Amino acid sequence: MTTKQTLLRSLPAVDTLLAIDPLPEYIETHSYDVVLTAVRDVLDTTRRDILSESRDTVHHDELVEQVMMEIEQTFAPTLRGVINATGVIVHTNLGRALLSESAQQAIVDVAGNYNTLEFNLADGKRGSRLVHATQLLRDLTGADAAIVVNNNASALIMILSALAKDHEVVISRGQLVEIGGGFRIPAIMKQSGAHLVEVGTTNRTRIADFADAVTDQTAMFLRVHSSNFKQIGFTEQPTLEQLAHTASEHGVLAVDDLGSGTLIDTTRFGLEYEPTIQDSINAGFDVICFSGDKLLGGPQAGIIIGKQKVMDKLKKHPLARALRVDKLTYAALTATLEHYRRDEALSHIPVWQMISQNLNQISNRAKHWAEQVGGRVIQGESTVGGGSLPGTTLPTALLALDTSSPDDFMAKLRSAEMPIIARVSAGQVLFDPRTVLLSQEDTLLSTLHRLYS
Ligand SMILES: *Cc1c(COP(=O)(O)O)cnc(C)c1O
Repeated sequence: MTTKQTLLRSLPAVDTLLAIDPLPEYIETHSYDVVLTAVRDVLDTTRRDILSESRDTVHHDELVEQVMMEIEQTFAPTLRGVINATGVIVHTNLGRALLSESAQQAIVDVAGNYNTLEFNLADGKRGSRLVHATQLLRDLTGADAAIVVNNNASALIMILSALAKDHEVVISRGQLVEIGGGFRIPAIMKQSGAHLVEVGTTNRTRIADFADAVTDQTAMFLRVHSSNFKQIGFTEQPTLEQLAHTASEHGVLAVDDLGSGTLIDTTRFGLEYEPTIQDSINAGFDVICFSGDKLLGGPQAGIIIGKQKVMDKLKKHPLARALRVDKLTYAALTATLEHYRRDEALSHIPVWQMISQNLNQISNRAKHWAEQVGGRVIQGESTVGGGSLPGTTLPTALLALDTSSPDDFMAKLRSAEMPIIARVSAGQVLFDPRTVLLSQEDTLLSTLHRLYS
């Protein structure tokens, strides 16, 4: 009781605290108001803590320390770099695909210079931004035309709005999926003004189900790749060829939301088969859409490719303007696609470098880490992530650290100057070299060395 009063009385006045080093310097760099607010907050909290008896000392340096922390926290950027030691390659929460060096450089070049975003150098007249990346996409996929929009979710909304508004879209009950982040196919349909016509059953849909559903109101057959889940057992879906062929027989469009979309055959790396963009083009689909920052390994974007006539219609839709991408996206996407054209995707695009890394290289890195910081090397699995290849993994080697409290240790790792994101399994904290860049290795090891000893 008396201690409480003594403690309360020992709290410094606002001005006293403001004058203690280094707070005067903080006033210089951050403004008087910012520091004043932080000082008041810290004093209020301390007063409350004393009254609730959760605090029984008052040291001035401690209070100053708290004020500094509060100011740092208020001004810390919310978006910052981290080290991804989770082994999830296309990690949606950690920014998905990393850009290749030349894609990064392309962004820098375009960001700091005026550029030809909508300018034709040949005649000095106004040009169209829709030309960028188009030729490369046509060459690489064999499609007639291409449009790039904000992301694949918006690509699908645009396709449905422009080509199926007030009309029926036929889709298998096995593909009425939720991709994540509230992106659900039935909701997207509704938003676009298209009428959903479900056919087949959850596990089995045949091509006859599609054919039987056609009315004079039908605009398209839609296939949605079941990116993030897998059906096993007694299942059936029509082939791509059947879908495209039957659509054209009935005079409706065949549209494929590929989700990840890959130009490279994933079975080369012991992964399951992820449908390729070329498959859907060869099967005769009219329109295909996929993400720029999943297995393609580029910037966030929704890429729409397809047959000339339909693509012309899409280009004229008001959403094409609303969902257009900026110069930075075009710069990074073009540079990424260049790697495929030069047949150097595996060696230059981070997503593919990580997928194609061999187990030996990874084991050696994990062993080196264990020598530097302690712990053991164990076998484990990396995943591709990003809603692609559900349930398939790549064998990897992990550094495993035992700590008394894995959660506390993970929190310390996250609060490092360069935050480290690891994972916990069976009470051990695990670090997968596959997703840790070589350029980050020294930082990772010195942080681990400091925190784990
Ligand atoms: C990931 C995914 C989307 C959404 O793509 P974003 O680029 O994240 O907008 C849409 N459809 C499928 C099938 C997907 O896998």
